[in-house]
Amino acid sequence: KKKKLAALKDFRERTLVAVKPDGVQRRLVGQIIQRFEQRGFKLVGLKMLEASEELLSEHYCELRMKPFYHGLLRYMTSGPVVVMVWEGHNVVQTSRTMVGHTNPAEAPAGTVRGDFSIHVSRNVVHASDSVEGAQREIQLWFQEKDILNWDCCDQTSTGDV
Ligand code: UDP
Repeated sequence: KKKKLAALKDFRERTLVAVKPDGVQRRLVGQIIQRFEQRGFKLVGLKMLEASEELLSEHYCELRMKPFYHGLLRYMTSGPVVVMVWEGHNVVQTSRTMVGHTNPAEAPAGTVRGDFSIHVSRNVVHASDSVEGAQREIQLWFQEKDILNWDCCDQTSTGDV
């Protein structure tokens, strides 16, 4: 029973992925969502918003001493973002691989950044970098009630509907 619970928990791992303002403006939202869906992850939260400086300064609190911090906040407030919670086995690490290196020049083709961006200051997408970081970020961007647990139709016989 313990094993079963652990396996369940493993498949419930969650991460925060955000399409940044340049990604929204360049109409990349659909393509980015498609990659996560086709990989096999489950979308359990989604919203579009203009992020406040307050929210972003919390989100990027570890970077506040970096020289690029103020530019980063200006970039992230330059338009709406699309923020998502994705769920699945090893989703944090796999999402980081799918997103690619922070600097697009070092992101291989096949990654979101490697395919859609050229400069570190306009790198299209965000993905949490650890399970703990993901929990923190999800709490920051989403209310628990706006994260939805749903079952797949192929796990229910039509007679039950
Ligand atoms: N960033 C930047 N210049 C840099 C490094 C980072 O503008 O030299 C921005 C970039 O948008 C990056 C974000 O700051 O995605 C957060 O940086 P972090 O090191 O956390 O990278 P990430 O986890 O997003 O790959």
